[in-house]
Amino acid sequence: MRYLVTVCVFLLTVVADGSTARPAPARFEFSQAHMGTRFKIILYARNKELAVRAANAAFERVAELDGIMSDYRETSELMRLCHRAGGGPVSVSADLFRVLERAQAVARQSGGAFDVTAGPLVRLWRRARRTGEMPDPQRLAQARALTGYAKLTLDPKTRSVSLERPGMLLDLGGIAKGYAADAALLVLKRFGIRRALVAAGGDIVAGDPPPGARGWAIGIQPLEPAESSSAPRLVLVNAAVSTSGDAEQFVEINGVRYSHILDPRTGLGVTGHSSVTVVAPDGTTSDAMATAASVLGPKDGLAFINAAENVAALFLQSDHGQVRAFYSKHWRDVPQSGPER
Ligand code: ADP
Ligand code: MG
Repeated sequence: MRYLVTVCVFLLTVVADGSTARPAPARFEFSQAHMGTRFKIILYARNKELAVRAANAAFERVAELDGIMSDYRETSELMRLCHRAGGGPVSVSADLFRVLERAQAVARQSGGAFDVTAGPLVRLWRRARRTGEMPDPQRLAQARALTGYAKLTLDPKTRSVSLERPGMLLDLGGIAKGYAADAALLVLKRFGIRRALVAAGGDIVAGDPPPGARGWAIGIQPLEPAESSSAPRLVLVNAAVSTSGDAEQFVEINGVRYSHILDPRTGLGVTGHSSVTVVAPDGTTSDAMATAASVLGPKDGLAFINAAENVAALFLQSDHGQVRAFYSKHWRDVPQSGPER
C-alpha cells in the first residue's frame, strides 16, 4: 500500500484576525511511517504538550488499524479472516466490519470496479511488477474465480463476515489509508483539536481551517512535470481528497503500462498513464472512490462520480505527454486557491 502521488500540503496565507483576547494556537507538525506510507499530521493547539499527546494517540490508532487491516502481516485480523475463507461466518471487530461495509457499498455503486476481494489478483500483479512478466494465464483464471464482491457477505446482526470460497483473499489497499486518516482526525477531535489535517500519502482528510484561514490548501501533483503551473490547489474544510493513479507503481510489459490498480472484471492492471483526484466528505469515501474511478476511466468514472452525493472528481489522462483533464459535475463547487504568492 504505497501512495502513488505525492500531494503537497501547504497553508493558505493566514489572514490576521483582530480579536486576540487569548493567545492564538500554534501550528504543530508530526509525521510517522504506517501502512507502507508516511502519515503526516498538522494541527493547531494552545500548547505543545497537548499537541504531542493528541498526535501520539492518533498515530497509535493508525497503528492499531494497520494491525487489523494489513495484508502483509499474516497475523492481522484481515489475514486471520482470510485463512478461514469457505468455512462460514466469522465475527470480526467493529473497525473491520465498518470498512468492509463501506467497501461493499462502493463495490455496488461502481459495478464491481472497486472490489476488495481482488486480493489473489493483487498478489499476481505484485509479482508481475517484480519480474516484469505477465501473470501466468492459468493462475490469472484461478485468481479471477476467487474474486467478486458478491462472494463476500456481511451480517450486521452478528457483525460477521462470510467468504464463499477457500483461497479468497481480501485486500484493503484501496480504502484502509482513507479510513485510518478519518480515524486519526477523530482521535484529535477527542482531544479538543479541530483545526487539523491528516495526510496518509495521497489520502488527505481536513478538519476545521487554520486560524484566520479559509481552509487547508492542497496542491495536486500534476501528471506530467511540465504541467505543474496549471496544477489546481484545492481549499478544504471538513472534507477529504484522495489521488489514485499509476504515477509510482506500474509495470511495462511489451510496451503496455499496467497500473497497480486492477480491473477486477478482467483481472488485468489498468493501462495507460492517468490519475484521478476525488473530493468527498470523508477519507474512506475519497480513497475507495478514487481507486474505483481509476478503474472506470473518465467516461464511466464520471457517471459513477456524478451519481454520488457530495463527491467531485478530476480525471487526468496523459497521451504521449499531452495531458487531458475531465471534470465531474460538482468539481467547480470545490473551492480553489489563486496562484501562489
Ligand atoms: P495507493 O494505495 O497506492 O495510494 P489506491 O488507494 O488507489 O492507491 O489503492 C491501490 C491498492 O488497492 C492496490 O495496491 C491494491 O492493494 C488495491 N487494489 C487494486 N485494484 C483494486 C480494485 N479494483 N479494487 C479495490 N482495491 C484495489
Ligand atoms: Mg484508494
